[in-house]
Amino acid sequence: MVKLFIFAVFFYVVYRLLTGGFKKRVVGSPRQTAAPGALAVHDELVEDPVCHIYIPKRQAIVLHGSDTPVYFCSEQCRKMYCDAHKT
Ligand SMILES: [Zn+2]
Repeated sequence: MVKLFIFAVFFYVVYRLLTGGFKKRVVGSPRQTAAPGALAVHDELVEDPVCHIYIPKRQAIVLHGSDTPVYFCSEQCRKMYCDAHKT
């Protein structure tokens, strides 16, 4: 009788393990996309060397080439700066 009881418990445990294993756990947490406003924190103002206005760095037109990048408000200013610094 005792053996039968142990057997029953054993089967019960196995049954629970199997049924538990078949259950698919929903793990994936909903991925939150970064709020667009969060990026604004990193926005710093840079000065346009041509017309001397301040523009957000992310919106500025960047000219690499010299050791420090130069930022412009528009393509026009970048061209003017490039022309002025040519030869
Ligand atoms: Zn400008």
